Amino acid sequence: MQTQILGLLTPLMALLFAATFAVFWRAGRMKRHVLGFALGYLSFSIGFLVTHFLPGDGFYTFHTTQAFYTLGVTFFLGSVCERVGQRLHLPTIATIYAISALVLALAISFTNDAGPALILVNIGYGAMYMVGLTTLIGAQRRDWSDIAIIFLIAFSACDFFIRPSLTVMFEQTIPAGEYQQSVYYSLIGLVLGVKSIMGAMILIGATIVEWTNTLRESSEKDPLTGLNNRAAFEDSMRSVIPRAQNEGRPFSLVVADIDLFKQVNDIWGHQAGDQAISGFGGLIKNMIRGCDTAGRIGGEEFCIAVWNCENEPAERLAERIRQAFARYEHEGLSNDIRLTASFGVATARDGETYEHLFARADEALYRAKSSGRNRVENADQLRLNEVTPALTDELVEMKRAATEG
Ligand code: GH3
Ligand code: MG
Ligand code: MG
Repeated sequence: MQTQILGLLTPLMALLFAATFAVFWRAGRMKRHVLGFALGYLSFSIGFLVTHFLPGDGFYTFHTTQAFYTLGVTFFLGSVCERVGQRLHLPTIATIYAISALVLALAISFTNDAGPALILVNIGYGAMYMVGLTTLIGAQRRDWSDIAIIFLIAFSACDFFIRPSLTVMFEQTIPAGEYQQSVYYSLIGLVLGVKSIMGAMILIGATIVEWTNTLRESSEKDPLTGLNNRAAFEDSMRSVIPRAQNEGRPFSLVVADIDLFKQVNDIWGHQAGDQAISGFGGLIKNMIRGCDTAGRIGGEEFCIAVWNCENEPAERLAERIRQAFARYEHEGLSNDIRLTASFGVATARDGETYEHLFARADEALYRAKSSGRNRVENADQLRLNEVTPALTDELVEMKRAATEG
């Protein structure tokens, strides 16, 4: 009775883990490898239950158990590989399964001793784990959870290769009908239970980290353009600008705003407007370097932080984006319609804060708007013909007074 209850513990635990991963997958809208973990634990659980409830000497008990374990191993290995962008070679797993199923059938029909069959089947699982291990080792990613999973799989592979032979050596014969009463059976229950818990702890930890990373990233990203949203952009600027100043690197800011955008919405509708915003965001993303940061800081307003960049090259970058946007073909707008945008550029001065730098770039943008739109204005290079009319008048007056004087 006691062994019956203990034997049920492992499958119930596996079911609980399956449910945990299913909840993670569903509630966290996580990638399908998390569902794969759930299906893996479900298959293991069914495999354990089959062994537990079907008669030990039944030909089908071994085969059904093996089929469900293999399914579980495939889900598990396939999912840990997919998690790091690798693909498990399924034909190799299927071939190993076919060979071990055949060998199992032969072993069962030749002898009543379950020992050799168990050793052979376990060598098959070990081989499958080795396939998974070599695939995982080929991945680029290597954080703590990847390393923990690699160790878990290496440990499992060794366990499958070594434990059955040692146990059978100790027990010598295991009559098929008494399999559930054997030392082997008690030991496998214990080892699989421990491995299940160990594996589930590592995978649950890795999944929680993945979940929180996805949450953080989605709270920082603007869904329409995939760029940083305003809060995330401003947050990063508060550390990036002091860093540039400490390292003595030039740092420039470009602010951009699509021209006359209200009309776009009015004429072609909000959805076409959204597509234009997303197109502008995509264009910016493709035209900046990896070390630059771009954010959507308002409805149709964008900001680009140009790292290690003097004022003039930053202005040239803004000019290139302006020209590219003016040529950009927009889905959802009439074919011959092109939109334009205005730009303001400013380069950080010693000890200047983000707020102050942004205010200067924004002021330059305002000038670009008021002097005709579809142009780039530079806060650090005031040119006489580009200053506001009031200021121009004042300067002209000063010049006249100077020449007359
Ligand atoms: P200006 O050249 O002076 O910038 O003219 P404008 O029409 O672009 O002026 P303004 O910046 O005041 O208007 C921006 C408009 O953008 C107002 C709003 O209806 C629209 N808008 C803001 N956010 C979104 C959005 O997410 N999607 C769409 N489709 N429109 C938006
Ligand atoms: Mg605008
Ligand atoms: Mg605007």
